[in-house]
Amino acid sequence: MTALNRCFALALVLLVIQPSRSFAAESKAAAASRAESAAAAVAVPPSAYNAHPKLAVLLVIDQFREDYLERYRADFKGRGFKLFLDKGAYFPDCYYDYANTMTAPGHSTIGTGAYSNGHGIAGNEWWDLSRNAKHPVTSVEDERYALVGVPVGGKTAPGSSPRNLRASTVGDELRLATAGQARVFGVSLKDRAAILPSGQAANAAYWLDQKSGAFITSTYYAAQLPDWAAAFNASGRAAQATQEAAAFSAAHGLKESAYGGKSFYGFVGSTPAANAYELDFARALILGEKLGVEQPGTPPVTDMITISLSANDILGHAVGPDSEAEHAMVDSLDSDLDGFFSWLDAHVDGGLGNVWIALTADHGVAPVPANAAKLGMNAATIDVEKLVANLNEAMNAKFSPGEKVNYLFDSQELPLLALDQPSFERAGINEQEAEQAVLDALPPAVQALGAPPETAGDGPKSGSEPAKPAVPSQTRLPPVPTLVRAYSRQQLASGSYPGGEFGQLLTHSYSPNGGWYVMVVFADYQLEASGGGTNHFSPWSYDRHVPLGFYGAPFAPGIYHGRVGPVDLAATWASLLGINQPSAAVGRILTEAIKPAAAIAYPKPTAASPARIRPERGLAAAKPAKAAQP
Ligand SMILES: [Zn+2]
Repeated sequence: MTALNRCFALALVLLVIQPSRSFAAESKAAAASRAESAAAAVAVPPSAYNAHPKLAVLLVIDQFREDYLERYRADFKGRGFKLFLDKGAYFPDCYYDYANTMTAPGHSTIGTGAYSNGHGIAGNEWWDLSRNAKHPVTSVEDERYALVGVPVGGKTAPGSSPRNLRASTVGDELRLATAGQARVFGVSLKDRAAILPSGQAANAAYWLDQKSGAFITSTYYAAQLPDWAAAFNASGRAAQATQEAAAFSAAHGLKESAYGGKSFYGFVGSTPAANAYELDFARALILGEKLGVEQPGTPPVTDMITISLSANDILGHAVGPDSEAEHAMVDSLDSDLDGFFSWLDAHVDGGLGNVWIALTADHGVAPVPANAAKLGMNAATIDVEKLVANLNEAMNAKFSPGEKVNYLFDSQELPLLALDQPSFERAGINEQEAEQAVLDALPPAVQALGAPPETAGDGPKSGSEPAKPAVPSQTRLPPVPTLVRAYSRQQLASGSYPGGEFGQLLTHSYSPNGGWYVMVVFADYQLEASGGGTNHFSPWSYDRHVPLGFYGAPFAPGIYHGRVGPVDLAATWASLLGINQPSAAVGRILTEAIKPAAAIAYPKPTAASPARIRPERGLAAAKPAKAAQP
């Protein structure tokens, strides 16, 4: 980057950041002026091929249970969450239709409109011995590429890519339908949450170098960071976020070690400062890449950005959904979204009327087990390390008496228990026998987790009965770890399990990735939780319940009750954009929330710039663009 370019880009970044802090004050007047110009809107059917809308923003909040929006609704101000609740089409009963409620599958499902059995991503990481025998591979790590933009001295290998994504996203279809003219980007603190929802044909995805807080990418997308991204990283914005995070942590008594320790990702990432930081990077991207701006010599098309806000998940794991810090995070995010939407209103030609925004989440979360147990729920904490030790002991007793072979890996990601295939094969055991042996050993191994402290540690005692109390208990007894169901990989692959709604959840969760394994379902509200926190991974409602909201010209404002799924988002957008649904999409088009064609109106483009985000944004105190009242 030349010095002049860097200087210009830096000035741009700083100007971009400014409006995010000050826009709230002027938004009332701007809204009033827009209300007067509502008549300027003209009826136009939505279409990707003539830039209606100019920009589609897919907003994902990581670990965001729908009931937050009900619980804290009285707090919301401006046009943050209320843009969807009051001005958009909002679906409060949106539930994931699968059992593996984690970040990578959730983001893949949002982008592709398909489940794990369609897009292939069933977990955040899994064992793939053909690629790595030492540790599980993540859903997006890819040793064929290198990371780009990591500060000097940091690790650039392995790179990342959407190599495991086996279905196209709505962004991919937008790129394909317009022969690459539509531009698609992904942003998140997490690599998987930037890469998976944006897809294989995305122009770029950006995520965090966890240590420094710099935004990075991978050579899959580009050999170097664009000037605007390098300028953002050099702007001092990360230091500002660190200061803001320190203030939040102090005010809410968060310990540095609660989640992720001292890294930027862990420390800043578990506070609202990370959401503001990430949204400022999105602003810099929209300006730097001129998203929504007509490319010279080509017709206008719809551009798209996926933004996954990670902070809620990082904090949520540490303190749980019912904490006062989580409440503060939700309120702060409301205010940051208000700022971001107002910024879009002021910077996209024609205002928010020319933008679509969808809001959802990748999964919900369970209450902290101890809190649920206090209310009487059977919310036991599962000690996975001990469970694996119990199972290894049982496998040794069966297949290699007197030895200490590790038949299960020590790194596990629930709901799957991964089996070390070579260990079994050395003992002459095939997959069917191995998985059946683990299924047989699971009930006593789980029962042993609930043994009273004095006998715990003696290992599994199969057939041991819980001691009968001499007198009826006068208080509620402590929760007991309970296995509800377990299935082998082979059972899941062949669909040989009971049908019904639960069977559907299992069908949707299957992917061939991960070698030999057994899937476990513990009783509801039971989970692995380290350090007093909580988690999400189960087929139970609290992990599956997320918001689904649409804002934009084609959507009839209202609250729509009734079960819908995150798979419906990509299908609905694809239908309205006039493009093919993603390759494995199974979602339903939410026709109940779509206006009749004649009632869909977009703001008239300004005469000077028919289809562009004003390039002079921020450099002059430009008046807000004319738009229909959002
Ligand atoms: Zn999480």
